[in-house]
Amino acid sequence: MPTFPFSETDPIQHHGPPPKTSEVVIVGGGIVGVTTALFLAQRNIPVTLLEKGRVAAEQSSRNWGWIRKQGRDADELPIVIEACRLWRQLAEECGEDIGLNQTGVTYLASSDKKMAGFEEFMKIAAIHQLDTRLLDSDETAKLIKGASRRFKGAMTTPSDMRAEPWLAVPALARLAARKGAKIVENCAVRTLEISAGKIRGVWTEAGYIETSSVLVAGGAWSSLLLARHGVSIPQLSVRVTVAATAPLPEIYPGAAADEHIAFRRRQDGGYTLAPGGSNLLYLGPDAFRHATKYLPALMANPFGTRYFPFAPPGYPDSWSTPRDWAPDSRSPFEGMRVLNPVAERSGLRSVERNFRRLFPQFETVRLKASWGGMIDAMPDVVPVVDRAEAIGGLFVATGMSGHGFGIGPGIGRVVSDMIQGNESGHDLSRFRLSRFYDGSAVRLGPAL
Ligand SMILES: Cc1cc2nc3c(=O)[nH]c(=O)nc-3n(C[C@H](O)[C@H](O)[C@H](O)COP(=O)(O)OP(=O)(O)OC[C@H]3O[C@@H](n4cnc5c(N)ncnc54)[C@H](O)[C@@H]3O)c2cc1C
Repeated sequence: MPTFPFSETDPIQHHGPPPKTSEVVIVGGGIVGVTTALFLAQRNIPVTLLEKGRVAAEQSSRNWGWIRKQGRDADELPIVIEACRLWRQLAEECGEDIGLNQTGVTYLASSDKKMAGFEEFMKIAAIHQLDTRLLDSDETAKLIKGASRRFKGAMTTPSDMRAEPWLAVPALARLAARKGAKIVENCAVRTLEISAGKIRGVWTEAGYIETSSVLVAGGAWSSLLLARHGVSIPQLSVRVTVAATAPLPEIYPGAAADEHIAFRRRQDGGYTLAPGGSNLLYLGPDAFRHATKYLPALMANPFGTRYFPFAPPGYPDSWSTPRDWAPDSRSPFEGMRVLNPVAERSGLRSVERNFRRLFPQFETVRLKASWGGMIDAMPDVVPVVDRAEAIGGLFVATGMSGHGFGIGPGIGRVVSDMIQGNESGHDLSRFRLSRFYDGSAVRLGPAL
């Protein structure tokens, strides 16, 4: 059993060689790539998923494990409602315990202003008949047991869920493989083969695969691969820090956050913790190139992100990362099998301090594990889910902007239909690739 966080030293679970030809090729073994492969395989479409490192080793295992409808962008909501249904179905089908539980999500408010800010989502929730409701101070105290602070109130959605990402995504990959998807780990896609405006194949480190459809679901690496082929998406990555406690008495079975800390009970009885506002953006060529597109997000939350002048070598937007390479030479993707940033010490100190301050009964609590992750963000905090107009057969599902785990199976289902030329069943215009270049104003989605 691989240890967590996954790294390139973990044993390969899905072996090559890749096939010489495949109807569909998926780049990236995160929740988006894995569930797309699964839905295609269930319909007997020959599909090959290529992962440069290990399945779920990047964002899809490092996340908090919240599966929430609460606080979603209005256009994502119908997809995440479907995703919640799919999570239940897939948890059954995969036959493994992925820690899926309906335990609720709660946002805690310290001020009347924060409470007033919930009203907008309450209107969206009403349209979709969600069970989201506002709690007063007493009701909040009853829900979050033993909190030292008195909150003004909260917004809560009892039907929201949690799952253990590092169990769930590998289990779904195994299910996809059983259904017939060919998954190959340690196999980077170096370049796409395009002629006469159409996808013809992909060049991988293990040779060429002929295909007519490619889905780029490469998380933080998507823009690097796409830019090499003239498809520009203003995607950047921010580093975040997460920690885990050992098992503790239950204070709340679900996931909750205030302005200082986010916490989520795990299946083993411990809590997964994250500090508020600890995002770090490494400045690289893409950050400068796309800076103006991020101005609205910056103005909405001027202190939400800190900046560092350069990324460690090998990161997607590092100054030294090549932007062009040949199909038969080593690409930046093999250069970093698993993007594995270390947790920030200051973030860990703050999370430990704030958790103990909020729950003084855990005065002696120690963090048993910590890790970092790179969130792939878009300027409007909603993903790109589209086909590339200029290149026939090229599909993109990326930039999940910090909330792609919960919605993942919904995106996978939608994209699998898009690839097959079927109606997706949802209005996807908000997620179109062209929105950054067709003169549309940036319309910010909610940040958490
Ligand atoms: C700390 C943290 C907390 C989060 N908390 C939540 C949460 O509670 N709830 C929620 O809904 N979301 C959460 N998210 C966001 C969520 O984890 C991501 O949105 C989601 O996992 C993205 O999935 P993905 O498949 O798009 O990308 P990823 O999981 O990043 O997978 C992309 C994969 O593509 C591979 N790849 C890239 N380029 C290539 C190539 N050229 N060839 C082959 N393989 C390639 C990479 O190695 C990687 O494994 C969180 C994220 C982080 C980092």
